Amino acid sequence: MGDRGIQIVKMDVDELILLLNKALADEWLAHYQYWVGAKVVAGPMKDAVIAELDQHAMEERQHADMVADRIDQLGGTPVLSPGDWMKLTNCEYEPPEDNFVENVLEQNIRGEQCAISVYDDLMQKTRETDQITYNMALTIIEQEVEHEQDLQDLFEDLKLMLDRYGMRK
Ligand code: FE
Ligand code: FE
Ligand code: MG
Repeated sequence: MGDRGIQIVKMDVDELILLLNKALADEWLAHYQYWVGAKVVAGPMKDAVIAELDQHAMEERQHADMVADRIDQLGGTPVLSPGDWMKLTNCEYEPPEDNFVENVLEQNIRGEQCAISVYDDLMQKTRETDQITYNMALTIIEQEVEHEQDLQDLFEDLKLMLDRYGMRK
């Protein structure tokens, strides 16, 4: 933390740190949802889906780093216990109990759509008050938008295949 770096923030710093910790909880849950999804997913196009889930798991972990570093700069403490992730999360966690590709993709698409809303909201709140957090949120949301697109593209291809071969449940 640095004094002048904190003084230039024109919003309540504790409120900002809470918003960042909520986003941090989301990132770790998203990381795990992708990571475990890649382990258990089954069905057509499995290999392509696993490759994408693994890549996204890595990228969510990088987002967690970026958010935690900003919390640290602001003099806050990143959430210390995984038990608090479920209390802080905006986007919750959807366990892939149905591990069929279609369900796993749908769950992760919902997660990305939530993440996009969270960072859009953070950008609205920091646009005029904290350009450093704003810039971080912009970097992350660009990747969340890409994640949503990657998953929806896979989902569309999967649907074409399931419909063509009458494989729909
Ligand atoms: Fe993320
Ligand atoms: Fe994402
Ligand atoms: Mg991707």
